This record gives sequence, C-alpha cells and structure tokens, in this order.
Amino acid sequence: MIQVVGRLAPSPTGVLHLGNARSFLLAWLSVRAAGGRLLMRIEDLDGPRIRQGAEKECLLDLEWLGLDWDGPIVRQSERQTLYAEALQQLLEQHHAYACLCSRKEVEQAASAPHIGEEGPIYPGTCRERNLPADASGAAFRFQVPEGVVSFEDHFCGPCNISVRKELGDFVIHKRDGQAAYQLAVVVDDIAMGVTQVLRGDDLLSSAARQIQLGAALHYSMPEFTHVPLVVGEDGRRLAKRHGDTSLRAFREQGIVAEEILGWLAWSCGLQTDFTPCRAQDLVQSFHLDKLPRQQVVWTGDLKAPMSWRA
Ligand code: GLU
Repeated sequence: MIQVVGRLAPSPTGVLHLGNARSFLLAWLSVRAAGGRLLMRIEDLDGPRIRQGAEKECLLDLEWLGLDWDGPIVRQSERQTLYAEALQQLLEQHHAYACLCSRKEVEQAASAPHIGEEGPIYPGTCRERNLPADASGAAFRFQVPEGVVSFEDHFCGPCNISVRKELGDFVIHKRDGQAAYQLAVVVDDIAMGVTQVLRGDDLLSSAARQIQLGAALHYSMPEFTHVPLVVGEDGRRLAKRHGDTSLRAFREQGIVAEEILGWLAWSCGLQTDFTPCRAQDLVQSFHLDKLPRQQVVWTGDLKAPMSWRA
C-alpha cells in the first residue's frame, strides 16, 4: 500500500487564527489517522506579505496545539532553483511564455464582463508575442489549456472548473524573479511526494490550476480535500474585523490549548460539545464524514453554541 504523505503549508504572513488552526488540525488528523507522514513546508515566497518573525510564531502555535510534523522544515525561499528548472521546462515545451503586461494594462484590456472572481481575466495579449525568455522585467504565464478540469474532491465531490474561462493564462513566475504560489506548490507537492492535500476551500479553484500545471510537467497531482472555512457572523472569512481570534490572543487570556481544541473538535463534528481535549485524542475517531458541510460561524465566544452557515 502507498504511504499517505500530507503537508502543512503555512504562509508566514500573520498570526494563526481559529480558522487556520481548524484547517491545520484537519490536515494533521487526516494524515495521522491514516498512519502517514506529515511534512512541514513554509510558503515564504509572497514577498511583501511575509512578516518577520511570523514563521517562528506560527510553528510555536502549531506545537502549542500539539500538531507535530515529520522530517525537516522545508522553506520555499530555499527552493528557487527547482522552480526555475520547472519554468524552463514549461518554456521549452511551449506551456509558458514571457509577459510584459503591467497590471494596469491587464485591467484595461479586460474590461467587464471579463472580470473573474479573482480579478481581470488575462486576455492573452503576450501569448503570441514570442517575447524572449530573458526579456527584462518579464513575468511568465502558464498557457492554460482549453477545456474544463474535472476532478473529485474528497470533501466537495465532483468539481468542474474552466481555468481558461475563469482566469485565463495565470502568472507562474513573477517579475521580481520569484516563483508564484501556483508553480511553487505544484513543484513542491510533486518533489516532496505529497499524496494528499487538505486545505481551506478558498483554494478549491487553485486545485484546477495546479492539476493543469502538474499535467504540463507530466505529473499527476495529489488527492485534494477542501474544507469549509470559519467565517464571522457577517459570513465573511475570519479576519481582524471579527475581533482577535489569534491563538496568541487566546493564550494571552490564559486559555489553554485544550480549550481551543475542544472548540475545534466540536466544530469538526468530532465531539458533541466543547469539552477540552488534546489533538491526539481525536485521531482514533477522526473521519472526514463527520465534518459538517456548512461553514462554522465564529460568534465571539468559545463556549457559545455552535452556529452554522449554509
Ligand atoms: N500557504 C497557503 C496558505 O497558507 C496554503 C497553500 C496550500 O495549502 O496549497 O493559504
């Protein structure tokens, strides 16, 4: 039998809050319950958003929760050569091209109705321009194949996404010479032998991009499981406006990790109430089928009855 290999892939852009903690707990449980290996990858490529000291804090939060990992910590900032090689391969096989369009030009060219959920859909301006790969200041885009990507998400079920229609050719290597998130994740998941990815469902559409990118690199991607997020009472993804839900803030109020885990376990359908517990107590009874389909609403109180949002 093939060993399950999962990963925790935090971006050191801020402190961990209840929402990140819930997705990480589920990723940890799904690997530990399967007796697999869980790798730690710090996604520290996102230039200006990376915050000094955030990596340390995030690792400390995970340890505080009792979420451990196997093997050394991998940092994307130390793996640029691998991403550059993958880019080279994509360029040679005509799956990628250099692009000199500024953000403003893309926005102007892609006037409504060509605005997708994630901003303007790239109209393909540089696709036929054959710019040299060493054009100064160029970014690189993936030439997204036509058609719908169909895959089975372990939680969301069958998914059909047209990256070409919803986003267009997307950037895989930025002007500043760094790999973009999509390329780095695909290269790393493949190189690290990851067999399953569990993360928040805000990244569901990224899975389609990653499957197409993986196919262009001649690899098949891991199995995907995208889980609902924790939201505030306004239905928006948990953020500062919903109060300080960082693990650090709870810790500073004297709340112990077991209480947070009690809330998380309850929100994941693994306990019928918020009785304090440890992460390892949940491994044996863990099953993804228990996870509620709705988003959990943070009502501002760890002990208030759970509230859900369809
Ligand atoms: N680093 C990403 C995040 O913190 C997760 C990426 C992934 O799991 O693919 O949102």
